[in-house]
Amino acid sequence: MKYSTLFLQTLKEVPREAEVASHRLMIRAGMVKRLSAGIYSYLPYGLMALRKVEQIIREEMNAAGAQEVLLPAVQPAEIWRESGRWNHYGKELLRFIDRKGAEFALGPTHEEVITDLVRGMVRSYKDLPLNLYQIQTKFRDEIRPRFGLMRAREFIMKDAYSFDADDPAAEQSYTAMFRAYERIFERCGLSFKSVEADSGPIGGSFSHEFMVLADTGEDEILSCSACTYAANKEKAEIRRPPEGMREPAPEGTPQKVHTPGVRTVEEVCAFLSIAPEKLIKTLIYASDKGVIAALVRGDHEVNETKLRRVAGVETLELAEEALIEAKTGAPRGFAGPVGLEVPLFADAALISDGPFVTGANLEDHHLTGVWLSRDARVVGWEDLREARAGDSCPRCAGVLDVIRGIEVGHVFKLGTKYSEAMNAAYLDEEGDLKPLIMGCYGIGVGRVVAAAIEQHHDEDGIIFPVNIAPFAVLVQPLDIRDSAVMEVSLAIYAGLQQAGIDVLLDDRDLRPGVKFKDADLIGVPYRVTVGAKGLREGLVEIKERRSALLVKVPAADAVAFCQDKLKA
Ligand code: ATP
Ligand code: MG
Repeated sequence: MKYSTLFLQTLKEVPREAEVASHRLMIRAGMVKRLSAGIYSYLPYGLMALRKVEQIIREEMNAAGAQEVLLPAVQPAEIWRESGRWNHYGKELLRFIDRKGAEFALGPTHEEVITDLVRGMVRSYKDLPLNLYQIQTKFRDEIRPRFGLMRAREFIMKDAYSFDADDPAAEQSYTAMFRAYERIFERCGLSFKSVEADSGPIGGSFSHEFMVLADTGEDEILSCSACTYAANKEKAEIRRPPEGMREPAPEGTPQKVHTPGVRTVEEVCAFLSIAPEKLIKTLIYASDKGVIAALVRGDHEVNETKLRRVAGVETLELAEEALIEAKTGAPRGFAGPVGLEVPLFADAALISDGPFVTGANLEDHHLTGVWLSRDARVVGWEDLREARAGDSCPRCAGVLDVIRGIEVGHVFKLGTKYSEAMNAAYLDEEGDLKPLIMGCYGIGVGRVVAAAIEQHHDEDGIIFPVNIAPFAVLVQPLDIRDSAVMEVSLAIYAGLQQAGIDVLLDDRDLRPGVKFKDADLIGVPYRVTVGAKGLREGLVEIKERRSALLVKVPAADAVAFCQDKLKA
């Protein structure tokens, strides 16, 4: 490809809305252009990188036995009602009505569509296992689209769905996808970690996320310093404190103390001169099963994903002021477990039992000397809080650290959630009808490109990993009016093309300084510079973008040199 004909305009200005390096660089390198919040056009240079990632994904998915399909983006509401998600998916699902008044959604994911597809076609165990995937545009009306392609509203995803006859077979499908993902992300040049994850609105029993390690990542990962345990913060478990910590509660009753206008943890601790560990926060929630309360130590935070699971509820929202008053008889800031007539879920850290300070369910008052086992009726002590650095690993005697990551892929064991809800069954060897066992597997294609740039750049621009670089080599004649320079440049360009290498020829009539700056910005892994001075000795200059190493090689050896480098 010749640069003079490529629809690529680099920008000097750093776009104001771009907060992370990959977003800034993808705009500056002319890869994408914003149309609306979280909605981008892919320009040729950006699309080339996306296509490279897609190609790697296709090769590995096909090698793992999956078959490519392309499913509709427009999905009728009926199938979402059948799965039960029309009401549960929430505002991320973009819904609309057609001219006949029928309801539709733009697909954020395709469990319903694929289940509808196979239920008519897979009849017997002989049709299994089956794994279908697609690479397609998804729409999610994200509350906070940001970081360019990283968290977009419209984005390209590879999604795969596996169907198996029984659990061991489903396990095999899951493992095959897990391994394929490891190969995909390795080939994309990413440094990543697979972590245990919550399965979120997709549902199912078990899942892993593939995290690209980056300080700007939106996800927090708790990782054990001693063993291999690593989990998304949403999911990260904390080792249960030993039961032996529990002391028997002494006889007596809590004391009511006057705490005028004292509401927050900091205020209560200062007012009563206690450490936050000795305070219990009582959080009142509205759920689909009524009002519940969560109790955590003053210095801990509730993990709503864990609370939802423990309480067995689907939806959970912190209660409004009016509901708090109705349930506790006091304004916000004075709720406590003693005498509170809603199901009380206590965090396991409160197993030490007492004495604690809590709200008194009375304006401007708190209770001291509270022992949960004696003074309140808790449903149980469970792991309900957010893990943080220094917490005990749930798997070994080690301690958890916090690192940040970008989720590029997600694999789920779905089990029979969708096949049962939507009647997708097969006949087993005995002729009995059984629900299909499903798994689903996603990769954000644009997010992979963004994450790769987040991991591979410097102050001058992108440093593309070779396998996903739009062009592996840039041939750069310093002066296109010099016929000797052009002749050699064109010969190297043709030689590289013949060798099957993606090569860009910078045939623009610009000053060398401008060309060098663009070369660094767009991040082509190898640059072959052809100048009149070097040619006098028959030499061209080859620079590796990543190491900035520069070598002079005879012009006639340039193609072989690049071939050799790219093989390594
Ligand atoms: P997140 O927690 O980041 O919102 P998710 O858990 O909702 O992700 P999945 O439903 O598992 O994501 O989707 C599969 C993959 O699609 C993700 O691993 C990610 O790479 C990509 N993805 C999800 N949402 C977006 C988005 N808004 N923009 C770009 N890629 C996305
Ligand atoms: Mg999401």
